[in-house]
Amino acid sequence: MDIHEYQAKEILARSGVPVPRGGLAYSPEQAAFRARELGEGPWVVKAQIHSGGRGEAGGVKLVHTPEEASAYAQSLFGRNLATRQTGPGGKPVFRVWVEEATDIAREIYLGFVLDRKSERVMIVASGHGGMEIEQLSEEDPESLIRQTVDPAVGITPFQCRELAFALGMEGEQVAACCRILNACYRAFRDHDATMVEINPLCVTGEGRLIALDAKMSFDSNAFFRRPEIAALRDRSQEDPRECTAQDNGLAYVGLDGTIGCIINGAGLAMATMDMIKLSGGEPANFLDIGGGASPERVVTAFRTVLADPKVQVILVNIFAGINRCDWVAAGIVKAFREANVTVPVVVRLSGTNVEEGQRIIRESGLALVTADTLADAAAKAVAALRSEAAA
Ligand code: GDP
Ligand code: MN
Repeated sequence: MDIHEYQAKEILARSGVPVPRGGLAYSPEQAAFRARELGEGPWVVKAQIHSGGRGEAGGVKLVHTPEEASAYAQSLFGRNLATRQTGPGGKPVFRVWVEEATDIAREIYLGFVLDRKSERVMIVASGHGGMEIEQLSEEDPESLIRQTVDPAVGITPFQCRELAFALGMEGEQVAACCRILNACYRAFRDHDATMVEINPLCVTGEGRLIALDAKMSFDSNAFFRRPEIAALRDRSQEDPRECTAQDNGLAYVGLDGTIGCIINGAGLAMATMDMIKLSGGEPANFLDIGGGASPERVVTAFRTVLADPKVQVILVNIFAGINRCDWVAAGIVKAFREANVTVPVVVRLSGTNVEEGQRIIRESGLALVTADTLADAAAKAVAALRSEAAA
């Protein structure tokens, strides 16, 4: 889960990272108030959305009067800001952050990511900050410095100094840089983060180090022990489809294909997606309805899948262990009654109460395509897709 810049700055500041003083505003008037409250200008007004690249998209502005802060905030509120990362739809701006402007001499990139290959936290840094990491690794790969942290030892003073020197720190900056590296690592570890990014970490005109932008992502599997992080969730910034699915206990991931999938079990879902591809189709989503899915939950799964306009066929594949085929079948019938199903549906049921499930499907009189095996189901879904296209 991602959080806003101002939230990440607050967490990092608590761990000891220097950040500019600032305040949050939900209205243009409040933005002007925040500017006055901070004292003398200039200030920087920043759109708070879950995305980087706001600067070049017009979501960050240097202002010289509280009135200018308010007018710029006014222009941001209530519209979507599209950046290179959000796609053309953009993300809605409901909050802006107003902070005292910093005099920038140099911008540094600093990232902490979970490196799955080494199974460790990896620090990525570059003396050429400001650019996004993807752009940096393409345009200036030589500038990227990497260090992995041994979890048993933590980040060592030696590693910190090596990074500081590689980033061109001098004199007192070396110690300041080491403090920042330590603080970021602690913030990462102690909050079950999956990513901490400071871009830019700025060297000011006076030679001080300060985090001008901050980004953090978290492992939602750890929310049971991090309620304070879970509370930072901002639903306005998330894909509404994935949001609703999550609320209903469905594991859903949107993909690019045309065959919508409703499946129980993550393993079976993966296997089904493979089988669809093998048959010449493309899955539109990953969806695991989980064990013991009630008819209502199946209806929600249908609604979720149908909300994707790319979906042209739905494939339901259930291998019921804890689940019951009769419940799933009842759910499918209910979905046809309540959810306006306009695409062909292929159903394969197997396992607990399969006869009862098949009877419900048969007696429903609905134009469902039934299949016996996974391969059969995938082939029939692709065939249905082709005959739809032909028609
Ligand atoms: P992003 O584009 O979403 O990553 O937003 P950033 O917070 O990184 O801001 C984009 C750019 O705005 C930075 O790289 C800076 O060059 C500039 N910027 C942000 N804050 C300040 C500031 O206090 N003073 C100055 N002069 N520039 C700033
Ligand atoms: Mn940035």
